[in-house]
Amino acid sequence: MPDQAQAIARHVDAIVVGAGFAGLYAIHRLRQVGMSVQAIEAGDGVGGTWYWNRYPGARCDVESLEYSFSFSEDLQQDWEWPERFSAQPDILRYANHVADRFDLRRSIQFGTRVTSARFDEGANRWTVETSRGDRYTASFCIMATGNLSLPRVPDFKGLDSFKGRWFHSALWPHEGVDFAGRRVGVIGTGSSGIQMIPLIAEQASELTVFQRTANFSVPAVNRPLTPEAAGRHKANYAQRRAEARRTPFGIAGHAPPTKRAQEDSDEARMRTYEEKWGTGGNISFLYAYTDLLISAEANETASEFVRRKIRATVRDPKTAELLCPDDHPIGTKRLCLDNGYYETFNRDNVSLVDVRSAPIVELTPTGLRTTEREFELDDIVFATGFDAMTGAILDINITTSAGHSLAEKWRDGPRSYLGLAIADFPNLFLITGPGSPSVKTNMVAAIEQHVDWVVDCLAHLRREGIDRIEAVDETEQRWVAHVNEVGDSTLYPRANSWYVGANIPGKPRVFMPYVAGLDKYRDICDRIAGEGYQTFKLGTPKGATTEREGARVSG
Ligand code: FAD
Ligand code: NAP
Repeated sequence: MPDQAQAIARHVDAIVVGAGFAGLYAIHRLRQVGMSVQAIEAGDGVGGTWYWNRYPGARCDVESLEYSFSFSEDLQQDWEWPERFSAQPDILRYANHVADRFDLRRSIQFGTRVTSARFDEGANRWTVETSRGDRYTASFCIMATGNLSLPRVPDFKGLDSFKGRWFHSALWPHEGVDFAGRRVGVIGTGSSGIQMIPLIAEQASELTVFQRTANFSVPAVNRPLTPEAAGRHKANYAQRRAEARRTPFGIAGHAPPTKRAQEDSDEARMRTYEEKWGTGGNISFLYAYTDLLISAEANETASEFVRRKIRATVRDPKTAELLCPDDHPIGTKRLCLDNGYYETFNRDNVSLVDVRSAPIVELTPTGLRTTEREFELDDIVFATGFDAMTGAILDINITTSAGHSLAEKWRDGPRSYLGLAIADFPNLFLITGPGSPSVKTNMVAAIEQHVDWVVDCLAHLRREGIDRIEAVDETEQRWVAHVNEVGDSTLYPRANSWYVGANIPGKPRVFMPYVAGLDKYRDICDRIAGEGYQTFKLGTPKGATTEREGARVSG
């Protein structure tokens, strides 16, 4: 590694950390307002989530025509999605196309991890250091580091002793993995596990699924996207995007529910759920009634409907019962979408092991051992998730010359203003940070909203000759209280999910997303911008410049 003290710092207007959808769009928008930008990405390519998660069956759970950028009409008209819910290779192809089409790569340094970021209060600038020993200084730092980008392998005793192959869903080998003729164990039954299990089952000689918590899953009802169906959508694309912006989840095409669950008779409710089950998709299902995520009684009707489906699908009654979730209301964890998940447990080569009643004790040279017995395995797949929402941000040592440290500030859980900015950390922005709707929405829609807001804000500051913006402590506290209040008015906090950090031993239990809806959140953000960002502490104007005059390096 080069001597850090000797490394020459290059200055840009904005550093962007990450080149997933958030980083890509941030580069594009920053350039549009004439700012120089340098993005730094740990991976060797663009795409973020879709670069790293290459496991079999990985695909989106929001329909591709919605889970895609809306900022360019030409892009959305030209791009052809092969399936209703497209697979990882197609989404990665799309991310690469966006990078090429908008000439974004020249602003990205790949294969490089940002290790620290320090704000100099005197100069109003960030110094960013990387795993390669580079140093950059920047007026603004934008964390597009992703909510689900720090994979987590549980700290099992004996992992090093295991003689077979092991994989994590989010660190999947680019050349793929051949499971033919192998005895495979999959640990984890979240969205990733549920997507990969049916496909691994088709290859492996034996597949053992180690389940700690049963999860709800509804059918994707995936299908090829015909040119006719895509054409109908594209004929009204702009209107559909506008409609999506006015919805809580950032997804158009689903009529909002009008009734509470108990307003329907049992028969009518079953018909509604049956119709939603047949349509496919999680939004469609959770949009059955207005109160599914607010009333435990209403939720139980939907939860029980899915349990009945599981019992009707899985032939072995013991396995079926084990697959029936009973510890959280449906939808309070991200509702999984599957392609034949429950049916997979009818295969002779697949077995389900309950590691809640008999936890995994250790990995052994030949497999793993639970408190009850040993399992011989050739391959182990960890579908064990992420240190979500805060992990990637806290992985960077973020400090200021005034003595603030983000790790210290967030010791008892994340605190931010709007999920966008953090008191005591001027000129730092988070994209889809904790305290924003982010993971409770169509993330591409949430990303576009955030990036637009941040870049519009920076352009405003530049016009006003202001070089510093900072969240105010009391305003931040009020926002955190509001996020909690809204969360507590729903069933969400009842689930031991990664939304509350429950999957990481010792992580403070805080419900992190803002669940009032992307539409309401957008209105709040727009109002703040419209009022000149007065809820922030702004630096003193130093004489206005135009956007173009302000540009230094065309990065
Ligand atoms: P990411 O795509 O996670 O990109 C962040 C990038 O930052 C990564 O490439 C990472 O390498 C880089 N990075 C992080 N820290 C550093 C550092 N210190 N230095 C340098 N680089 C760094 N959301 C939906 O709405 N619908 C879906 O269907 C959906 N499906 C998903 C499927 C999977 C398997 C997963 C894991 C998530 C899914 N999500 C989905 C959520 C998904 O993460 C978002 O939709 C979206 O892709 C996030 O984009 P991003 O750019 O914010 O973050
Ligand atoms: P996840 O939802 O956190 O699931 C992790 C699984 O691993 C859980 O079943 C968990 O059990 C289990 N696990 C963790 N540690 C364990 C241990 N020590 N022993 C036994 N089991 C253990 O992670 P994910 O499936 O990767 O999904 C994360 C998020 O990414 C999703 O919620 C979704 O937002 C997104 N995603 C979306 C899609 C999609 O459909 N498009 C696909 C993949 C991911 P517990 O529940 O008991 O902790």
